[in-house]
Amino acid sequence: MLSKFIFNMGQQLRNPSIQKWFDFLKTSENWSIEELEVYQLEKLKELLSFAYENSDFYKRLFDDHNILLKDIQSLSDLSKIPTIEKQDLLQFNHEIHTQNTYKTLKATTSGSSGESLVFQREEATDSFNRASIFRGYSWYDVQPWDKNGYFWGFNFSWKQKLKTKILDVLQNRFRIFSYDKNSFEAFVNKLGTATYLHGYSSMIYQTAKLVNERNLAKPKHIKLVKGTSEKIFEKYQEEVKKAFGVPMVSEYGATESGIIAFECPEGNMHLNMEGVLVEEINHEIVVTNLQMKSFPIIRYKLGDYISLEKDDYQCNCGRAHKVLKEVTGRVGSNVYGKQEIYPSLYFYYIFKNLVKTYGLKLNYQVHQSKKGFLIFTIEQQLEAQDLIYLEKEIRKYFKNDVNFEIHSNQTLLSTKGKFKSFISKL
Ligand SMILES: [Zn+2]
Repeated sequence: MLSKFIFNMGQQLRNPSIQKWFDFLKTSENWSIEELEVYQLEKLKELLSFAYENSDFYKRLFDDHNILLKDIQSLSDLSKIPTIEKQDLLQFNHEIHTQNTYKTLKATTSGSSGESLVFQREEATDSFNRASIFRGYSWYDVQPWDKNGYFWGFNFSWKQKLKTKILDVLQNRFRIFSYDKNSFEAFVNKLGTATYLHGYSSMIYQTAKLVNERNLAKPKHIKLVKGTSEKIFEKYQEEVKKAFGVPMVSEYGATESGIIAFECPEGNMHLNMEGVLVEEINHEIVVTNLQMKSFPIIRYKLGDYISLEKDDYQCNCGRAHKVLKEVTGRVGSNVYGKQEIYPSLYFYYIFKNLVKTYGLKLNYQVHQSKKGFLIFTIEQQLEAQDLIYLEKEIRKYFKNDVNFEIHSNQTLLSTKGKFKSFISKL
C-alpha cells in the first residue's frame, strides 16, 4: 500500500526507534498492575539518578532538600521530592536541560494558556510518544497511515500552508481549513474514505453538527474519532455519533509530559503508565515523564484538575493500567466575585450537576470582563424551566457575590481554533 510505504519512509527518517517502542507497548499492554509498577520504579530510579548527575537544576533541588537517591525505594517515596511548575521550566530552562550526546528535536508548547515553552526532546522520547498514540489507535483497529481527517487551527500564511500540506500528504492526512460552503463540503466528501478523525473536539463537534443539519452524506468507514486538548462536552457525543457512527474518545497529554492517558473502547481513560507517573494532589495532577532525559520533568504540576479512579478499579477491557476518571478544569484561571475569588472549576460542577440532577446537557462558555459579573453563553435554546435550574446552580456556588446574565442560543467562540470554556479578560 502506497500510503503505508510513504508513512513508514517519513517515520524512518524522523523516528527510527518507533517500531521498537510500539512493540514494547503492545507487550506491556498485557502486564499486570504489579508488573507495570515494577517497570515504573525502575524507570524512575534511572531518571532521578540521571537528572541528579546531568542537570544543574535537579542537582541543586535534591541537595537543597537533602534528598538522597538511595532514599527513593518505592513509587510513594517520590513524594519526598518537591513539585515544580511551568514557571520553573521557563525560568530555569537552561539549567534543567541535561548534558547529552544524543540527537534531539525542538519541542514547543502551544502557549495558548500563557507563555510558550521551548525545550530539546530526544528522538527516543518523541518516538515513545508517537508509539503511545499508535497503541491507542490499535485499540480501534486503526493504522496510523490510514486516511485521516485532521481538525486543527487554520488561518496559516501561504508558506505555513505549503509546509502543512507536505506533512499532511506524508501522513495520509487532510484537514479542514474553513467552514465556508464549498471548502467545507469538499472536506466532508473526503471524510467518506477516511478511517479516523482527530483534533480539537470543538471543531469535530461543529463539523458533525453541520453534517447533520445540512443532511450531507455521512462517512461510513470511521473507526475512531479522537478529541484532544479541549473539554469534550457530553452534548457533543449525540451529534458526533449521529454524523460519524462512533462516539468521540479522548487523548490527554501535554508536550512536556507526553501522552498521559488514552480512552479505551470501554470508555475509560487508561494512564499511559509506561511513560508517566501520575499523582493526584489536592485534585491537581502532578506528573513525572519517565521517558525523557534531555529535559527531565519530575513531579510537575501541569495545571489541570483531575480525578483518578480508585486503585482497585478494574476496566472491562482487561487492561490493568490505572484509570483517569476526569479532567475537570484548568488550575489558576480565577473567577472574581465582588468580594471573593473562586476557581473556574466551579463551572464544571454547575454544569455537571445540571446533567446529573435534571438530565440537562448544555454546551457553555463563561465570559468575565469585570469583577463580580459573569456572562454565561449557552449554545442550546433554554426553556423557562431550564433557566431556573441553571440560575439555581449558579447561585449555589457564587451566592450573591456575582451578578450574571445568561444568553442562550449562542455560537460559542474559539480562539485560534481552540475552545476554552472560561474566558477572562481580568
Ligand atoms: Zn479499558
